[in-house]
Amino acid sequence: MIKTIVLNNRPEGKPTVSNFEFVTEDKQLTINEGEILLEAAYVSVDPYLRGRMSDAKSYIPSFELNKPVQSGVIAKVIASKNNNFNQGDFVSGMLNWQTQQVSNGEGLLKIDGTKAPLSTYLGILGMTGLTAYLGLNEIGKPKAGETIVVSGAAGAVGSVVGQIAKILGLTVIGIAGTDEKIEMLKTKFGFDAGINYNTSKNITADIKKAAPNGVDIYFDNVGGPISDAVLFNINRFARLIICGAISVYNNTELPKSISVQPFLVKNSALMQGFIVSNYAEKFPEAMKQISTWLAEEKLTYTETVVNGFDNIPTAFIDLFEGKNKGKMIVKI
Ligand code: NAP
Repeated sequence: MIKTIVLNNRPEGKPTVSNFEFVTEDKQLTINEGEILLEAAYVSVDPYLRGRMSDAKSYIPSFELNKPVQSGVIAKVIASKNNNFNQGDFVSGMLNWQTQQVSNGEGLLKIDGTKAPLSTYLGILGMTGLTAYLGLNEIGKPKAGETIVVSGAAGAVGSVVGQIAKILGLTVIGIAGTDEKIEMLKTKFGFDAGINYNTSKNITADIKKAAPNGVDIYFDNVGGPISDAVLFNINRFARLIICGAISVYNNTELPKSISVQPFLVKNSALMQGFIVSNYAEKFPEAMKQISTWLAEEKLTYTETVVNGFDNIPTAFIDLFEGKNKGKMIVKI
């Protein structure tokens, strides 16, 4: 029995489970020479998938209707006619939301579940860790003694950014959506201060209080009013790293935002968006450093693990409700 999740219709506003359809086929997959048969073990759900579900032009093609949704997946090789893979290997790659599938192995990376838990290859040892490390270093150019604000701080990318900034000697302020998350930022991840944007009466004032010397780097995962509040606190030559804008991904109308230009001019500040794949040539070096810090216990991580293939769409939708702490992962 093979189960597949296809995109049934494009979300308007916040995604719902009715945007997806479960297709069950009573068949056995077979492989030809050069192919492998894969069984999904862990599926990553990520905010950027929302963009691929719409038909707007972006840096990555939209999902086609009635075709399987794809994301980062850890899968077990259950049969192989490909010399590069053995039965029992685990691989990581961009794969279908499907319990079993056939691949020719292209784009798949063999991973070692004895070195680190398999799920971490979707998080801190995968795209999440790379995004945090490369976005912060390549655009932020952090210097010891500076102050950084991270939004979406208790999520997958944000929690890693804050920890790396601490390792590099910065003062780190995180913005997240619940008191429990703020507590976790300070106690588990070593952030210096946290602001709950849902209970703050004035985010601009709260940032000023937490960063009396101003903000040198802003790692932006959310966009919208939270990022507007940071702008009022930036220092001269501040660097604004635009990683994501989850607060506006479900907007059906153009968001009303303040004009950034005067803030950038006045402060000679840099604002730059990026896609982690821009820095593909630096992945090995970044992964080496992240693995070293993990081994030295300078870095840690948290995961929210949802059980069951059928819960993939709900886990994805829950990202927009902040139901995750750290990386949201579905265990099949
Ligand atoms: P994540 O932060 O683990 O999960 C999303 C989090 O966003 C939620 O836990 C929630 O936390 C917060 N959120 C949801 N709605 C919000 C809203 N309206 N306002 C403020 N916060 C909201 O996800 P992630 O995988 O680490 O991704 C974080 C950001 O980085 C996303 O914008 C994503 O698109 C982007 N990203 C970019 C790249 C790249 O190459 N540029 C790569 C990976 C990820 P709260 O409880 O705190 O609200």
